[in-house]
Amino acid sequence: MSSTPQNKDLRFIIIGGGMAGILSAVKLKEAGFTNFTLYEKAKSLGGTWRENQYPGVACDVPSHFYCYDFAPNPDWSYNCSPGAEIYDYLQSVADRFGVYEHVKFDTEIASMAFRDGRWHLETKGGDKDEADFVIGATGVLHRPSMPDIPGIDSFKGTMFHTARWDHSAPLEDKRVGIIGTGSTAIQIVGALSGKVKKLEQFQRTPQWIMPRPNPAYTEEEKKNFREHPELLDAIRAEHAEMSEGGFSSAVVGENPEALAMIAELTLDNLEQNVKDPVLREKLRPDYQAACKRLIMSHNYYDAIQHQDTELVTDKITGIEPGGIRTADGKLHELDVLVISTGFRVDQFLRPIEVTGNNGVTLEQVWKERPSAYLSVSIPEFPNLILLNGPNGPVGNFSLIDVADIQFAYFMKLVEQIKQGKFTQFSAKKEALDRTEADRVEATKKTVWVSGCDSWYLDDRGVPAAWPWSMKHFRETMAEPRMEDFDLVS
Ligand code: NAP
Repeated sequence: MSSTPQNKDLRFIIIGGGMAGILSAVKLKEAGFTNFTLYEKAKSLGGTWRENQYPGVACDVPSHFYCYDFAPNPDWSYNCSPGAEIYDYLQSVADRFGVYEHVKFDTEIASMAFRDGRWHLETKGGDKDEADFVIGATGVLHRPSMPDIPGIDSFKGTMFHTARWDHSAPLEDKRVGIIGTGSTAIQIVGALSGKVKKLEQFQRTPQWIMPRPNPAYTEEEKKNFREHPELLDAIRAEHAEMSEGGFSSAVVGENPEALAMIAELTLDNLEQNVKDPVLREKLRPDYQAACKRLIMSHNYYDAIQHQDTELVTDKITGIEPGGIRTADGKLHELDVLVISTGFRVDQFLRPIEVTGNNGVTLEQVWKERPSAYLSVSIPEFPNLILLNGPNGPVGNFSLIDVADIQFAYFMKLVEQIKQGKFTQFSAKKEALDRTEADRVEATKKTVWVSGCDSWYLDDRGVPAAWPWSMKHFRETMAEPRMEDFDLVS
């Protein structure tokens, strides 16, 4: 790089074409950077919304909030729209903002190494590319986690993970089992109950369910949104205020009243809407609401009370060719088994082999667990930025907003490179250690450690999440603290 590089001199590579990758491409173009390639391992953009196409898939963050602020969409069909619509939306944004011309589909990055001031990448097919910056937008909830249940491979029916839904498998007239009670399983039960011969949900831990009506927008409302786009900005701002002032501060221990209200609403939902007292007790969690990721649903309790749907709470002892065996000795005979046991959330860029300064690998520095300074920068891995990386805001937030804030932070560093102030940045190890210690300390006041297990917790039981409010996240990310970075001129 020359000391004051022009935009065209700076080359960027984006890895991953989900919502964060698309956002990166749009924002790069907006900032006048056109020298970039987005590598996508699959055949289409859309990330989690391409991978997750199970029945009932939707985003429980309201659609007018779960979208890019630069691309509001007056045509969302529901308050919380179906996944397929979000998938289409992401592709249409990519189209509208000229992202496709930068995308290489079907191309998985196998390795990347920082040498001589640049990143050198190699694809699985053996092609090579180079760039000054890499943007890791590979997602969090991405790699299916399969349960370690004895006999799982012996099942003779059709079996798949929720993120690998087999749409060719008929479900009508079938006995369907689903393992899990996370946000995914709750949506699937809501969609499949009453539509299959018999549905059995295998619950290890019950969940608190927040009632969330999901009204459709009328044609009149959509027309109004089209004619008055400022209405969409207002809805967005209102939701941000509600969610950031309420939920996001409640879960991190900064708003006990809001947390108490969540507890009250979820308890009322259970008491009012589950008629059978035996079933009600089976569905009653023994931990605090919002300890696990809070489930939002308008139809789960109705669905689980359907005559052809059953909640199984006996422990699973094994899977056999004919179905699931539970601790009471019963074989639950199944034709289709849906594995809704979540994701491996500690992978991030991996399995890409990433090598930073002096041959240090990501596997080595993440041997114990993944971490990154403010979730975006890894010491000794210069000019690499992670979007929705380790220990960032997760939960019932809009990850689009999170990625947006992180990308803007990255652009502030790039701007200084353009001004010739330095050519490389990576967080100082000391800065990572300090902020990580603060973060771990702050997790102690969050609801996530109040006595439940969840994917938020790392191998030590520490929440792998931003333990402060979203407001604090915005403030922290507003301007890079340059003294926290190792800079190379
Ligand atoms: P999850 O929340 O990790 O839930 C996994 C479920 O599988 C849990 O109920 C867990 O039980 C159960 N499980 C795991 N291993 C098991 C075993 N060996 N035997 C029996 N049960 C087992 O996964 P997810 O539902 O796919 O959701 C993951 C995340 O995706 C969500 O938390 C959310 O962030 C995101 N998501 C968002 C939306 C949305 O609308 N925005 C929709 C779907 C998903 P335990 O509770 O006992 O561990």
